[in-house]
Amino acid sequence: MKYLLVIIVFLFSFIGILFQNEVKWTPNEKLKWSDFKKKLSTGANELALLDGGIKSDFEQKKDSTVSVVIYAFYDKNLSSKSEDINALTERGLKHEQGHFDIWEWYARVLRKKLIDTTLIKFNQTTAIFNLVYKEANNVEDRYDKETNHSNDTTAQRKWEALIKQKLDEYSGYSNTEFQIYIKKRNKIKSQ
Ligand SMILES: [Zn+2]
Repeated sequence: MKYLLVIIVFLFSFIGILFQNEVKWTPNEKLKWSDFKKKLSTGANELALLDGGIKSDFEQKKDSTVSVVIYAFYDKNLSSKSEDINALTERGLKHEQGHFDIWEWYARVLRKKLIDTTLIKFNQTTAIFNLVYKEANNVEDRYDKETNHSNDTTAQRKWEALIKQKLDEYSGYSNTEFQIYIKKRNKIKSQ
């Protein structure tokens, strides 16, 4: 029975992986409505929902080096759109692209912060990730509020300009893979 349970759990996680369809942020590839594979649930206050965020992987090596992988992504199979084809406008798509680009903006902020911080402990990496992720979430919320989910065209254009400006500002932090170092503390010799 125990083995059966283990097999079932394994199968479910395997099926879960099969149904994931993750797309990493790249500068040249823009979102298309066909990328939103899920049907929007009723009662949603947007015409589409991009399911994405920032993923990170920190691997500590023996010599106090940490290999870092950070990227913005969205999942095609979990991103949803309205069934009303007329509602899926170019403006709405630009709004969703804005959500994706904000994740990339903050992936860059995160990379910069990790590089600029003098690390003395490995778990500082997770603490920094959590802090920046929270900030990114707040910006995503503000983006929706101020643009009224793209209905306020003036605010939408303002945000698009701001996001572009931020991506340019942090363009030096576009590499998804890099290394950081944990500083060894000098031991004070007792006399
Ligand atoms: Zn939105």
